[in-house]
Amino acid sequence: MGKKEKAKERREKRRQEISLLRTIPYSDHQRWWTSDTVAVVTGANRGIGFEIARQLALHGLTVILTARETSVGEEAVKVLQERGLTVVFHQLDVVDPSSIEAFAKWTKEIYGGINILVNNAGVNFNFGSDNSVEFAEKVIATNYFGTKNMIKDMIPLMRPSASGARIVNVSSRLGRLNGRRNRIGNIDLRKKLEDDESLSEELIDQTMNTFLEQVKDGSWRDGGWPQVFTDYSLSKLAVNTYTRLIARKFSERPEGQKIYINCCCPGWVKTAMTDWAGHTSPEEGADTAVWLALLPDQLISGRFFGESVR
Ligand code: NDP
Repeated sequence: MGKKEKAKERREKRRQEISLLRTIPYSDHQRWWTSDTVAVVTGANRGIGFEIARQLALHGLTVILTARETSVGEEAVKVLQERGLTVVFHQLDVVDPSSIEAFAKWTKEIYGGINILVNNAGVNFNFGSDNSVEFAEKVIATNYFGTKNMIKDMIPLMRPSASGARIVNVSSRLGRLNGRRNRIGNIDLRKKLEDDESLSEELIDQTMNTFLEQVKDGSWRDGGWPQVFTDYSLSKLAVNTYTRLIARKFSERPEGQKIYINCCCPGWVKTAMTDWAGHTSPEEGADTAVWLALLPDQLISGRFFGESVR
C-alpha cells in the first residue's frame, strides 16, 4: 500500500473511532441531564443554531433560543413550542455588551443559572472563490470577540454540577492552526499560537488587531494570513485557540464547578451563510455541537472536532 493510501486508511479509521464515540452519550444510563437542565444557543433563529436548539430540546432539555432580532426569534420559538418542546426566547446580540448584560440578568432571575452555552452566532461575507475583507471588522467582532464576551459573561452563571457545565463553540475547519492548507504563513506566530506556554489571550487579540490594522492600511495581502476566506478563517482560528486556552484555565476549577469547553466544525452546510450550497443539511450540521453539549463526564475539553461520519 502506498503512502497516500495508508494516510487515507488512518484518517478513515480515526473518523470511524470518533463516530463510534459519538453514539455513547445517547444511551439512557449516561443521560446526566433533566428537563431542568438549561441550554442557551446564540444565533438560533435559523440555520445550524435553530437545529441545535431543536435537537437539544428533543433530548428533553430546557432551551433558551436567542436571536438579535426579537420578531424572528419569537417566530422560531413558536415553531418549536408548537411541537411540544420546552423552548423560550430572549433577545441577544453578541456584539452588544448591553444586550449580553440584559440577557445575563434575565437568565439569572428566571433560571438562577445555565448548564450549557452553545456559541453558534456567526457571520461570513465570502462566497465561492471570493475573498473580500470588506467586512473584516464585523466578522472578527462577531465570530471571535462576540464568542469570547459571551463566555466571560456567562461563566458566573454556569451552574455547579457533578457532570460539569459545558460550552460549545461552533467554529470551522478553516480556522485550524495546524491545517495543511490555509494556515498562517508566519511560522514564528503559528508556533507561538500552537505552544501552550506562549499562548495567551493578549496574543490572540493582538493577532486579530494586527490583521485588522493591515486591512485598514491595505497591506494584509502580504501579511501571511490564511489565503481562503481570510477574515473568516482568522476569526475561527481565534475561536479555536481561545477554546484551548480557556479550557486550561477551566481545568483549575474545583470538582463540582468544572466547565468543559470544546469547538467544532459543522461541515459545509446548506444555510444562508453558504447561500444554501454545501454537502449537508442543518440537521446533520448541528449534530456535533449537540453531541459535545451532551457528552457524559469524559473530561474532554479544549479540543476541536470535525463533523461526524455520514
Ligand atoms: P446562518 O447565517 O444561517 O446563521 C447565523 C446566525 O448567527 C443567524 O441566526 C444570525 O442572526 C446570527 N448572528 C449573526 N450575528 C449575530 C450577532 N451579532 N448576535 C447574535 N446573533 C448573530 O449561518 P449558519 O447556520 O450556517 O452558521 C452557524 C454557525 O456555523 C456560524 O458560527 C458559522 O460560522 C458556522 N459554520 C457554518 C458553516 C456552514 O457551512 N454553514 C461551516 C462552518 C462553520 P440573523 O438572522 O439576525 O442574521
